[in-house]
Amino acid sequence: MKCRHCGGTRLVKFGIVHGKQRYKCKECGRTTRANDARIKYSQEKKLKVLAMYLENNGIRSIERLEGVPSPLIIRWIRQSAKLIYDWLRSSASSVDLEKVAIIELDELYSFVRKKSNRIFVWVAVDRNKCQVVDFSVSRRLDLSSFRVLADRLSCRYAIDFLCTDGNPVYGRIALAGRHVVGKAETCLVESMNAKIRRCLARFNRRTCRYSKAFDRVGSFAYAFI
Ligand SMILES: [Zn+2]
Repeated sequence: MKCRHCGGTRLVKFGIVHGKQRYKCKECGRTTRANDARIKYSQEKKLKVLAMYLENNGIRSIERLEGVPSPLIIRWIRQSAKLIYDWLRSSASSVDLEKVAIIELDELYSFVRKKSNRIFVWVAVDRNKCQVVDFSVSRRLDLSSFRVLADRLSCRYAIDFLCTDGNPVYGRIALAGRHVVGKAETCLVESMNAKIRRCLARFNRRTCRYSKAFDRVGSFAYAFI
C-alpha cells in the first residue's frame, strides 16, 4: 500500500470512508483509501474541459469526448465559477470608487428546464476596457432584480455615463452622472451577449441543451467572465 499523492509507504489507519479503510500518510499528511478506484485527473485535463465548455460544448458531449464523468465536470465549472464570484465580491469591498467613463448594461434571457421558466442575466460592460465587469442572474426582469447588480456597481464604481436600452428599470436607479438610452449606445454589451450565446451551449438559441437548475445558470455565467 502506497500513498496516492507522494508514493510514501508510512501509512497509518485513519477511519473508514464509504466502507473502505482510509489511511493517513506520515510523510505528506494526506489521506488515501484502500482499493481506490477513483481516477485522479491532471490540471491540464481540468483546464481542457473548462476550455471546451467555453467553446460551446455541452456537458454530455465533453463527457463523451474526454471520458470525464459529467458530475465532476459540473463540479469543476462550479469551482472555477466560485473563484470568480469571490474575486468579484472581494474587489467590491474596496474603499475607493473606481472611475469608469462608460458602462453599458443589457440583459439576456435563458430558461431552466422549460421555456416558461425564464431567467435573466444582467450584464454590465466597461466600454473602454471592452470587458464584462459584473453581472447578476434573476428570475424576473423587474426593479428589485436589477437592484442587486445596481447596488454592487454603485459600491465599486463612479460611473460618468450609463448606456442602456429602453427598459424602464434602468432609469429608476441613479447609477451614473448621465443615463443615455438607445440601441446605438449598447452595441458593445449586445456583442458580449451574442458571444455568451455563441460560446455557452445553454445560451444557444433553438437548443436542446438547457439548464437544469437555477444556480447552475449563475455559476456557468460566472465561469464565463
Ligand atoms: Zn503521502
